Amino acid sequence: MYYFCQKLSRHLPMSSSNILHSIVQSLTAVYTRSEATAVARILGEDMLGLNYTDMLIDGMDRLSVSQRGRLSEALSRLRSGEPVQYVTGQASFMGHVFAVSPAVLIPRPETEDLVQLVIDAYAQDAPAPRLCDACTGSGCIAVSLKLGLPTASVSAFDLSEEALEIARANAARLGADVELYGGDLSHPESLPGAPLDVMVSNPPYVRQSEEAQMTDQVRDYEPRMALFVPDADALCFYRWLGQWARRVLVPGGRLYCEVNEALADDTAHLLVGIGLTRAEVRQDRYGKKRFVVCTK
Ligand code: GLN
Repeated sequence: MYYFCQKLSRHLPMSSSNILHSIVQSLTAVYTRSEATAVARILGEDMLGLNYTDMLIDGMDRLSVSQRGRLSEALSRLRSGEPVQYVTGQASFMGHVFAVSPAVLIPRPETEDLVQLVIDAYAQDAPAPRLCDACTGSGCIAVSLKLGLPTASVSAFDLSEEALEIARANAARLGADVELYGGDLSHPESLPGAPLDVMVSNPPYVRQSEEAQMTDQVRDYEPRMALFVPDADALCFYRWLGQWARRVLVPGGRLYCEVNEALADDTAHLLVGIGLTRAEVRQDRYGKKRFVVCTK
């Protein structure tokens, strides 16, 4: 279907009466043409209930008054730079739809690779591994792990109450039995001490000095507490993760973390210095050093 649509889009004239073209046109100030087309598809599918073919064939007159009202509000938010996932209130991750708000980071495609690493490692393994996701945000990692490893017992925590509310709603709506609680990784001694087989985390790792290189969309809209760390202690979350892992992972248990690509080797060294072993740096789908996996 996808390829069919791609072909169709190449052959159909982009008449101004087609919905896709009208949306793309109104977004050209903030997006390239191909980004605008992707955003238009998301708006059509998630907000207007239209598939791609409908958007190519039908004109704006197909939309009801209320659909047009919603679309015009959405377009004005997009033109001021707000990410489409906050405008629609949802984002796709591991084939599931997660609710998102500016209280949580928008799930990134490369974070799916982190989830897949864990699923691949444990699908055939211990019958019921105990997993915990630290700094869970929208809950996308924890919920996807539970859905991908149904026999696992999965818990997750976050410092932000607002994020936890979203994570709880996502777990409930997707039917994933995940235990969610408030917890502060900077005080690992206050976190539960029950044994775990796997710890997973995508903590904040962007150095404040890297802020200038970020897109306005990320910098102006996504929660700073989920993104930034001070340059002077850029690996603080990994130190806390490592200390907690030393205490609660069973021997042979593993820690999987997403990391700053520029600090991947440093992160692996830090975790080994804390007493974890077999630290390996893994690449994401874009070929960037994006994950560190280590063992207790
Ligand atoms: N990878 C995210 C970004 O590009 C940052 C995620 C994080 O800090 N954990 O902005």
